[in-house]
Amino acid sequence: MSNQTEDLIERMTVNGQKRALVVMAHPDDNEFVCGGTVALLSSKGWSVHIVVTTSGNKGTKNPSVTAQQLAFEREQEQRKAADILGAEEPTFMGFADGYIENSNELRGLLVRQLRLHRPDLVITWDGFRSGFNHRDHRRTGRATYDAIYPAADDHLFYPEHKFEKLLPHRPSALLLAGTDNPDYLVDVTSVMKIKIRSILAHESQMQGRTEEMLMARYRERVIKERDNGDVQNSKDSEIRYQESFRAIEFV
Ligand SMILES: [Zn+2]
Repeated sequence: MSNQTEDLIERMTVNGQKRALVVMAHPDDNEFVCGGTVALLSSKGWSVHIVVTTSGNKGTKNPSVTAQQLAFEREQEQRKAADILGAEEPTFMGFADGYIENSNELRGLLVRQLRLHRPDLVITWDGFRSGFNHRDHRRTGRATYDAIYPAADDHLFYPEHKFEKLLPHRPSALLLAGTDNPDYLVDVTSVMKIKIRSILAHESQMQGRTEEMLMARYRERVIKERDNGDVQNSKDSEIRYQESFRAIEFV
């Protein structure tokens, strides 16, 4: 496996406009799958805009909470998480959690975000991952590819955007998160604490967990994946934390 993602990001940092768009399905997806990468991009002077296709208005064990209350709470938490990572104010498309379709409407909204923010780099879910995955992740990922190509760079798709003076746009690269076939790794060791704090900003989903507990869980996972390592006696200085993606460059 190569470690070219950082090269890709470095190259784009030097040559590009340093704009990234992250398209995720639910509040907290960004923090878990690419929070470290977003924190690194922010630290290199990138502006990162996070789009969340649903409001995350499902998935609670609290019988008295309504979907509207949950959506409000989770959007607030996503704003706080984005702030911790140094990203801009997120955009919420507000589709119902669990009901995302790769529709003309969703693609049009994504094309508009691409034309508005004009990112060099887009990060989204791998919509073709095999095995178990949330349908909103698959459909958000596929709608994002379809928005990038062929639509966003062709003025004949969603021509109404011309009235907002939004011009066609094509990003330079796409990073797919949650993939079966990662070929690009980002070393996020230096921003691991920031990533964990951003995850913990999702209080309604992280009840009772602490920074120490999450760090210990990540540490254990990395050591176990590395030659079934010794969790007790491994040195923290030897542990590297990574986020993995499949990278597609548009040339
Ligand atoms: Zn999700």
